[in-house]
Amino acid sequence: MESDFPILIAEDNPVSRKLLEKTLKKAGYEVVPAKNGREALELFGQRFFPIVLTDWMMPEMTGPELCRALRAQSGNGYVFMILLTAKDSKEDIVAGLEAGADDYLTKPFNRAELMARLKTGTRILELERSLKKATEEIRVLSIKDTLTGCYNRGFLTEHLPKEIKRARRYGHDLSVLLCDIDHFKKVNDTYGHQAGDAVLKTFAKILMDSIRNGVDWVSRYGGEEFLVVLPETPFQGAVLVAERLRTNVAEAVMDTPEGALHITASFGVTGFSSDTPEPRVSPDAMVKMADDKLYQAKNEGRNTVRSQPL
Ligand code: GH3
Ligand code: MG
Ligand code: MG
Ligand code: MG
Repeated sequence: MESDFPILIAEDNPVSRKLLEKTLKKAGYEVVPAKNGREALELFGQRFFPIVLTDWMMPEMTGPELCRALRAQSGNGYVFMILLTAKDSKEDIVAGLEAGADDYLTKPFNRAELMARLKTGTRILELERSLKKATEEIRVLSIKDTLTGCYNRGFLTEHLPKEIKRARRYGHDLSVLLCDIDHFKKVNDTYGHQAGDAVLKTFAKILMDSIRNGVDWVSRYGGEEFLVVLPETPFQGAVLVAERLRTNVAEAVMDTPEGALHITASFGVTGFSSDTPEPRVSPDAMVKMADDKLYQAKNEGRNTVRSQPL
């Protein structure tokens, strides 16, 4: 069975190095050999190795020195390090572990013992991997809206101020648009909450699919209200974007458990440029202006865009 944890070996003795390499390859590990600590450190700089097996006595850089250097780097993940040593006095072992090694093996190494130690390392690395995966899942859950998959209100509160600061620092434009589904209550009342949820999902998907990937972003501001943030977009450009979104929504067929529905939405747009005076620019001011314009769009017949720069 192939292991997906590649091993970096540092060993100055060519015979010993070859033997290690052969043994580990046979056990299914990918192995990269180095002639001493310095060369191992160089290889590590080019590519991450989760397992490092190092001899103690080597020219240029010893095993404990290598362990210390690797531990000092806070890099891509945990490195499980095993020291190979002919020294097996208690002081030496303690010194090796203090240098950052996780474990040690006395030379000449015993094959079964080596495999058992690597298994311990693999267990730790697999634990780290599943922790990282769980952390990433939690991170996504904490910033995304579960129903629609767009960003949630918390993300908006944290990131809109950052977008504004960045735009001001570089003299860039920034625009936002707030949109709200027209007569959405009627969808719920007529077709039920499940159909309403399906419409919300499709609506958010249309918004996300209609903007620039990786630059613009959509957040769920409230029930059926979404704020779309458009970095480096001048106000007039944002009005065009809103008009495009409005058309895409109005033309879409929304599949729901109760059949296909059509909806419309209203839009409020605002934005600033490098000419906009500083006191006018803030997250609250942007949202308020977009909300005022959205309110106007609602009052003036819905399925329409209203806009005003900050
Ligand atoms: P308007 O055109 O003025 O916006 O009318 P509206 O009916 O869309 O506005 P209103 O704010 O009165 O109603 C919004 C509705 O959205 C009320 C609420 O039940 C519904 N809603 C909010 N969140 C959800 C949700 O997650 N799922 C569903 N199905 N409905 C939701
Ligand atoms: Mg040596
Ligand atoms: Mg509404
Ligand atoms: Mg609303």
